Amino acid sequence: MKVLFAAGESRWPIWEAPLRAAIDEAGLEIDLVLDADPAEVEAMIYAPTNASAGTTNDDFAPYVNCRAVLSLWAGVEKIVGNQSLTQPLCRMVDPGLTQGMIDYVVGHAMRAHIGLDRVLATQDRWEVVVPPLASERPVAMLGLGALGAACGQALAGLGFPVLGWSRTAKDVPGITCHHGPEGLRRVLEQAQIVVLLLPSTPGTENTLNAETLSWLPKGAAIINPGRGPLIDDEALLAALETGQVGQATLDVFRIEPLPQDHPFWAHPNVTVTPHIAAETRPTSAARVVAENLRRLRDGEPLLHVVNRAEGY
Ligand code: NAP
Repeated sequence: MKVLFAAGESRWPIWEAPLRAAIDEAGLEIDLVLDADPAEVEAMIYAPTNASAGTTNDDFAPYVNCRAVLSLWAGVEKIVGNQSLTQPLCRMVDPGLTQGMIDYVVGHAMRAHIGLDRVLATQDRWEVVVPPLASERPVAMLGLGALGAACGQALAGLGFPVLGWSRTAKDVPGITCHHGPEGLRRVLEQAQIVVLLLPSTPGTENTLNAETLSWLPKGAAIINPGRGPLIDDEALLAALETGQVGQATLDVFRIEPLPQDHPFWAHPNVTVTPHIAAETRPTSAARVVAENLRRLRDGEPLLHVVNRAEGY
């Protein structure tokens, strides 16, 4: 099977060895190439090469014999609307990426929970502020997919009551699950920490806006490693001004890199991280790619196929 690495020449040195190792490990006969006659390509390993562009305009039409496009990225909003892409599109669900996201979310949730910023800012005085126990600090997990469920369960394992929210009804052990528009209010009304792990779709844009932010208990912390458009920036800044939101840790933005003159940079209660919450890890992710190539060879259903109508 001829498989095209269409994730950019600059990424080839990082990915070539892990992909070849995973392909060998899976016992697959694959001709993995950086360049090919499009008509000969049977599957494509893909990531946008112009990552800063809003959407990719890559033309998939010439790949008439390509049976699957395997994304190296978990978020597929840049490619999902591409009309020339008619093949099944699989997004990345990688154990390494998931572990990285758990590390990020648990770290920043614990930072908000124990008031670490205040502790660091009061190193010149004896100021006693005892945080509540984790069991007294409800956390909202917006999105209960591969990442939201794993992060929610990690927080539940530390004792936090975790309220989850998804589009469709879910049953995730350790998490009190809600769904749909009415579920969002129930979750936010209780949440002292809100984590956003939703995909960027028309249905999730501005999930946190002036109205939904007003449902939170005063002083709640927001952690957004999902996507920038999930939050109305102006509404968040206004909620930070009034103290309705106590602090926000933001990893993703409508424009990336975040423009230098954006008010988030200077805001004392905003922490900006440069889209580093969770990277796809080549060694573990290459095995996921190889498993999907094996399934393609054996005519089995592919893993992590994107629902094009829903956009994720
Ligand atoms: P996923 O498995 O597709 O899960 C998405 C979750 O969002 C699902 O629970 C889904 O509900 C829910 N959802 C979608 N639309 C919704 C709506 N309109 N209302 C309520 N819930 C909705 O995705 P994932 O792998 O967990 O990844 C989540 C996102 O994390 C990615 O899309 C990406 O944007 C982001 N991400 C960020 C980084 C980073 O470094 N910052 C790294 C990787 C991923 P259902 O369960 O009902 O379908």
